[in-house]
Amino acid sequence: MATEHCGQEAETGRLSPTVGAFWRRMGRRLGAAGLDNGLLDARLICGFVLGLDATGLVRVDGQAIGSQQQHECLDLLARRLNGEPVARLLGKKEFMGLDFRLSEHVLVPRPETELLVERGIRICGDMCEDRARRTRSPVRFVELGVGSGCIGISLLVNVPHAMGVGVDISAGALEMARINAADHGVLERLDLRAGDWWGPVGETGFDLILSNPPYIARAAIDGLSREVREHDPLLALDGGGDGLCAYRKIIDGAGERLNGQGVLLLEIGFDQGAAVSRLCRDAGFGDVRVVRDLSGQDRMVEARDHGG
Ligand code: GLN
Repeated sequence: MATEHCGQEAETGRLSPTVGAFWRRMGRRLGAAGLDNGLLDARLICGFVLGLDATGLVRVDGQAIGSQQQHECLDLLARRLNGEPVARLLGKKEFMGLDFRLSEHVLVPRPETELLVERGIRICGDMCEDRARRTRSPVRFVELGVGSGCIGISLLVNVPHAMGVGVDISAGALEMARINAADHGVLERLDLRAGDWWGPVGETGFDLILSNPPYIARAAIDGLSREVREHDPLLALDGGGDGLCAYRKIIDGAGERLNGQGVLLLEIGFDQGAAVSRLCRDAGFGDVRVVRDLSGQDRMVEARDHGG
């Protein structure tokens, strides 16, 4: 089918369309199917098939694209049209300027989660500065539910004197986190452990606890977008009956594992600020704050240890 083929033979007389014409045509098809960011997705798909980043793609914009590569692009286009997120097609997603590899065992990193990491970097950076004046001991954090590892690994890449413990109950997720930590050169500073929340964390005295836990109320899962519902692991989404089950477990064990000046950072759903803050205060945390993301939604709770 000519329209399926995305070619521009008739327009140019070439045997093959150019790379640029080809991906722009794919983008228009995605847009016509009602998908947002069609052009961006098409460019990512084409770049992936050609093994080129955005700059590389610009360089070959006017060159012909081979038929094998057209077929590979069109296969991915069909999957995208069928609702698979582009990050799943590519098996990777950029987060905090770093590429993270993905598998079906991990959530696709979300841009809004960068807020948690940016705050964590700031807190660890301040602690490192303070620490450097007194002792030379590293800042230590623990992340519960590491998934792809995008939070803890971004923190380690940006805070060279930090050491992290990362916990996940999913062996598949831990494997992904291990691969990503190695890719980004921080594996020796990230101690990955299998288990249920605090189960594998016996030690205390942490400076920072972070988590983006599953927080969707079970009854709301059916109402999530198809891309999330069908392609993100349920284990990483399902927050139990009221969506707060993971927070209860995390907050319950957090105070005793932090040092006196430690900080707890939790990503939350847009309507969970009051409930998660209350859980923190009930557990004895002082200075509990709800922080909004760039779109003005409540996105994070920050709580300071009672000792601080
Ligand atoms: N922010 C995710 C979403 O709804 C949910 C992630 C989570 O439960 N931690 O797309």
